[in-house]
Amino acid sequence: MSRDVILSIKNLSKNYELSGAFTRGKDVVHAVENISLEIHEGETLGIVGESGCGKSTLGRMIVRLEDPTDGSIFFEGRDLAKESSRALRLIRKRLQMIFQDPYASLNPRRQIGKIVEEPLRIHGMGKQERRAIAIDLLKKVGLDENSYEKYPHEFSGGQRQRVVIARALSLNPKLVVADEPVSALDVSIQAQVLNLFKDIQRELGLTYVFIAHDLGVVRHVSDRIAVMYLGKIVELAPADDLYEKPAHPYTQALLSANPRMDESDSRVRIILTGDIPNPINRPDGCVFNPRCPKAADICRTTAPALLQIGTRQVACHFPD
Ligand code: ADP
Ligand code: MG
Repeated sequence: MSRDVILSIKNLSKNYELSGAFTRGKDVVHAVENISLEIHEGETLGIVGESGCGKSTLGRMIVRLEDPTDGSIFFEGRDLAKESSRALRLIRKRLQMIFQDPYASLNPRRQIGKIVEEPLRIHGMGKQERRAIAIDLLKKVGLDENSYEKYPHEFSGGQRQRVVIARALSLNPKLVVADEPVSALDVSIQAQVLNLFKDIQRELGLTYVFIAHDLGVVRHVSDRIAVMYLGKIVELAPADDLYEKPAHPYTQALLSANPRMDESDSRVRIILTGDIPNPINRPDGCVFNPRCPKAADICRTTAPALLQIGTRQVACHFPD
């Protein structure tokens, strides 16, 4: 891809130390482990994996809601760890996050318009100007002007997520991390909201990191997709390549659990056995080995590096 790199992550890790009545000394959760990747201006990078694999932690670090334990994040070429708090405040405006639950993320006692313009108020913009921008944003996400005076309970889940999107756009961001933004919505509404994301991206030239737990949702919005397992990226590929020829056994398993509608799809269904391993007691060698149909001796002792193979990166001793 020839587009400029907007965000670059190097060897990023996040550990959580657990302490409490039920933990021995200090247990450490390796939520994200040594992830490096680049995100290009105007693209959508999908991030997929089962619950608990570290997607949200990675997303929160990207928008600086969370500090990494290790590694660095460069936004437009600047190392965010080395910026002054004042510079970081300005940079943060350009990095926005949208969360899964549109019910939890809107204050029920505030008017929709006030919710959308709140980030502008915090940044010191005057009343008239704020209102004009908020109304403009509401229209942009497909809501009408008189939504401004209404309250969250007057809206459906899909409409609320439109409000959340409008609020995230108020500070004119460059990069938006959307963390399972349609997971809480009815399937019939999901496609509309996904289309809205795409339309807005085209209009504003935004870059997206789009997180989902299943491959079906990210397929149509993503240019490239990273598959995560236990805090690591196991495969990263252009979206079409990933769906047509998944190389990692875990990607293959995720895809086969998510069969396509057409009957001609002859791929064998792979059922993953066993639970997702515990991120406190991770297996030696390849983190996927206890559930992998291909696991051999080397997989139990040696972690495979994420290597470039053609258009993709794969971390597997026996990639297809
Ligand atoms: P995902 O979004 O893929 O479901 P998360 O990033 O939320 O995964 O979590 C990754 C791992 O880190 C999980 O094991 C989770 O329990 C743990 N974790 C996340 N946030 C915290 C926290 N604040 N304190 C302790 N553990 C956490
Ligand atoms: Mg999550």
